[in-house]
Amino acid sequence: MLDDSEIQRILVIAAHPDDVDFSAAGTIALWTDAGIEVTYCIVTDGDAGGNDLSVGRAEIPPLRRAEQTAAAKQVGVHDLRFLGYPDGRVEATLALRQDLARVIRQVRPDRLVCPSPERNYARLGISHPDHRAVGSAALDAVYPDARNPFAFPELLDGEGLEPWTVREVWLAGVPATADHYVDITGTFPRKLAALRAHASQTGHMEGLEESLRGRLARAAAAGGLPEGRLAETFQVLDTA
Ligand SMILES: [Zn+2]
Repeated sequence: MLDDSEIQRILVIAAHPDDVDFSAAGTIALWTDAGIEVTYCIVTDGDAGGNDLSVGRAEIPPLRRAEQTAAAKQVGVHDLRFLGYPDGRVEATLALRQDLARVIRQVRPDRLVCPSPERNYARLGISHPDHRAVGSAALDAVYPDARNPFAFPELLDGEGLEPWTVREVWLAGVPATADHYVDITGTFPRKLAALRAHASQTGHMEGLEESLRGRLARAAAAGGLPEGRLAETFQVLDTA
């Protein structure tokens, strides 16, 4: 695994606004505190999210972009890219692979964070179909699309985007296959603030802090961290 001191830039790819805050915001705050540049790429506008039927669906995308932007600020992230795919209908198409390969070549990250493409039978919500599709397309974009000059040649020929090799991928929110546990006890308040910034999603959640603390404490215990610590979980892939 790469040491954080070897990392200059990290690209975080997520399906929906708020995914990254549930799965990785505490870790991201540690990275930005260490001076690492972090960029978010959010594939959908989350227009199928929320449960307030009185809010017109057309109002949702700008609202959720604003919420995600405010949440990102809480953990030191100021560069966000929204791809605008329709929420709930994401497929791992060639078009999505090309869009993600474009962002990888633009950002040139050393490390990339994305959802797992695999279904989690213990917690179905983690492996929402959009998450799996985005995870699959993101890994295809890491290998081979972003690094192969002959993949989507219009990226190089038309847009001047040189091939780029991402050296490491962290699959986020993977309790079943986690092999890396990040102690986020110190940044938990900022993770919570980021989640609260998604008011349209979390405003109605009773006991958000308690349920989060419980889940993150169980993750820390599974990772062998001392009593009282909180952890986010990842599976780290060597993609160099
Ligand atoms: Zn999601």
